[in-house]
Amino acid sequence: MSVDTDEIAVNGKVKWFSRDKGYGFIHDPKSGVDRYFAVSDVVGADLPRDGDVVTFLATVGEKGPRATKIRIASAPLRATFHDQRADRHERHGHYRDDRVTCPSCNRRMVPRLVTYQGEAQKSLCPFCGATYRRFNTLQTAITITVAVIILMLFFFSR
Ligand SMILES: [Zn+2]
Repeated sequence: MSVDTDEIAVNGKVKWFSRDKGYGFIHDPKSGVDRYFAVSDVVGADLPRDGDVVTFLATVGEKGPRATKIRIASAPLRATFHDQRADRHERHGHYRDDRVTCPSCNRRMVPRLVTYQGEAQKSLCPFCGATYRRFNTLQTAITITVAVIILMLFFFSR
């Protein structure tokens, strides 16, 4: 935390966000524009939902107005008690079981899955964005084959 940028964070509302697509838009009432943001711009383990109030840093990216360092300030009240419980379960239920230590920032986190055309590509640390794991089956097969060959060479050379 060398630069404290929190003081210029502004409030906005999530217009829409797609977990599958990995991006969305935040309405910025200050400038009146909708700002593009990606999953990697979200700080913390929770992903925003449509209608959530968030704080963010307003910047300009390749695709125009952009929001970064997004933090969820408050989620709107869900329709019913049961919806709320289901929502809570979906958001927080898996944390207890799936938390791992990030090799990059050493924080306890749930790796965030990045998918491409329905296939899991890799998982990221939601705090620092470091790749936690890659799901490349061919690469894994090659790595195992090479390891086996090295082990065999080691044993047969003795
Ligand atoms: Zn990390």
